Amino acid sequence: MKIDRAEVIVTSPNRNFVTLKLTTDDGVTGLGDATVNGRELAVVSYLTDHVVPLLLGLDAHRIEDTWQFLYRSAYWRRGPITMAAIAAVDMALWDLKGKAAGLPVYQLLGGASRTGMMAYGHASGKELPELFDSIREHRELGYRSIRVQPGVPGLKAIYGVASNTGLAGNKGVRYDHEPAQRGALPMLEDWDTRAYLRHVPTVFEAVRAEFGPELPLLHDGHHRMTPLQAAAFGKSLEPYDLFWLEDCTPAENQEALRLVRQHTTTPLAIGEVFNTIWDFQSLIREQLIDYVRAASTHFGGISPLKKVMDYAAQYQIKSGCHGPTDISPVGFAAQLHVGLAIHNFGIQEYMQHGARTNATFQQSMTFVDGFLHPGDRPGLGVELDVDEAGKYPYVTAYLPYNRLADGTVHDW
Ligand SMILES: [Mg+2]
Repeated sequence: MKIDRAEVIVTSPNRNFVTLKLTTDDGVTGLGDATVNGRELAVVSYLTDHVVPLLLGLDAHRIEDTWQFLYRSAYWRRGPITMAAIAAVDMALWDLKGKAAGLPVYQLLGGASRTGMMAYGHASGKELPELFDSIREHRELGYRSIRVQPGVPGLKAIYGVASNTGLAGNKGVRYDHEPAQRGALPMLEDWDTRAYLRHVPTVFEAVRAEFGPELPLLHDGHHRMTPLQAAAFGKSLEPYDLFWLEDCTPAENQEALRLVRQHTTTPLAIGEVFNTIWDFQSLIREQLIDYVRAASTHFGGISPLKKVMDYAAQYQIKSGCHGPTDISPVGFAAQLHVGLAIHNFGIQEYMQHGARTNATFQQSMTFVDGFLHPGDRPGLGVELDVDEAGKYPYVTAYLPYNRLADGTVHDW
């Protein structure tokens, strides 16, 4: 089974996706996701100019060897662009191996450790009635766990609130499917940490009063707090029994979690922007987090994702893979196969793709009564309709960014 062809396919059905398609000499195809939100074309160049020429003629069964070759021979290792490119190759090779074996990938990773994986959805609203409606809509869709992102009084547009409107450069378009808006420049949102810290605990108090103590609730701090602010925030949320507080501080400063951890028992999740197991090394060993947020696409693929989750399992730390819509259906399937197989699955973020994306990527995945399953088709269970993909060329799009009232750029 030799790699005969490698194509990089860019399509933008509801948002931009970069997909690597490998074809073997006996005509079997495998897919990998290489999408880096807002920087998609950098990965296209990395793959097309520097990876595709190295793949032709390689034995497609040698997944680990190919991964190590691409990681170590580059010398300039890590980083989102490099690791997304390697991830695409890794996923495509697992897809091929599954098809060659006639088995879904999770069977090759040890088989199912559960019948389905609990997913959480994104509820949001600028005011409480809109937020409550959003929570009810998600429960009607089957979600048994809900991420809650409220608006903050005095702020016009902040991360995670789908009905954002109002600042210069902000088109006021709902972003249920994707916060990266199409256009030549990123949208501007606003931010005030003190207002946020005061307001959000009152929202969780109201949500608990309305929906009761059972419903698992999550919240994403999106890297916007200092360590001390995050510590105080985690403490103030303790009465509302969060499933997790995510990205409470900027992830690149991992030492910050030590301070946060000393002050709060609110469970912590971090790592969607991490690229390798080394970024989690001390966080896992020192038990400074409860959930690993790595995504297959930005973490080098299925092989390293399985390794970091196995490492985390020794410390009773669970998975909580990043799963918004910039993880393509291919990348999403990849982490579902890992999640089904590992013992320490925690929860899976699931922000559903739009109709055009689902028509472009045909998926065997199911979502029933709040539980995800990757399906039992051989390989990853995703096929790309290239005719459909060809209808939607790349469109420039960026994630929004933040400025404080005095004009200072802040973490979004
Ligand atoms: Mg997040």
